[in-house]
Amino acid sequence: MKPDLSNLKEKLNFINISSDYMSIFEWKPPRSFKSYVLDLNIVKEHATNDIFFHIHKGNSKIVHIRKNNLIYTAGAGNGVQFQLLEAILEKIDEKFNETYEVDVILSFENASSNIFKNFASTVEDLLQNIDKLDLIKPINAYCRVCKKVLPIYVKKSFIENAEDFPVPLVYTHAGHAILVFIDRNFDVRGVELVNVSG
Ligand SMILES: [Zn+2]
Repeated sequence: MKPDLSNLKEKLNFINISSDYMSIFEWKPPRSFKSYVLDLNIVKEHATNDIFFHIHKGNSKIVHIRKNNLIYTAGAGNGVQFQLLEAILEKIDEKFNETYEVDVILSFENASSNIFKNFASTVEDLLQNIDKLDLIKPINAYCRVCKKVLPIYVKKSFIENAEDFPVPLVYTHAGHAILVFIDRNFDVRGVELVNVSG
């Protein structure tokens, strides 16, 4: 089974890269004029290095991660799963550091976000060809509450970097959650209904 990544660009609200002081890169779908400055302020408050954070916000969701002195954030409609957004941000971090000597540029006193403007074409390219990059794998898990098989996206790096198998993944949907155990071959080894608080 191949993941359905059609119209991904339209399902995304924004992708942002910020330093601690300013927004240095932003991508938005065509014809989007919405500002996400407030969301980005929230993000800065609780960014721990190398940990993905998830925020639900009405009909949309936000994922962010700090990578040393940069914070990567992606916003999307609720239909886009968090694992896919995480995979996109991981790739963007990789590409951004491949393209720029970020630390050096940011150490310039007059560093401006104009320097990173051309990165938009890299992001466009990445989103356009996301299926070819093979970043995520769809798995199927049966939820006994929904009484159906649910397609869940798992980012490959999550499985490939795991130390123990099967790895647990919580999938929250429709007001409840299942805990899915996945082995190194992306096969589902078990599904449990879990209680959730927060
Ligand atoms: Zn369910």
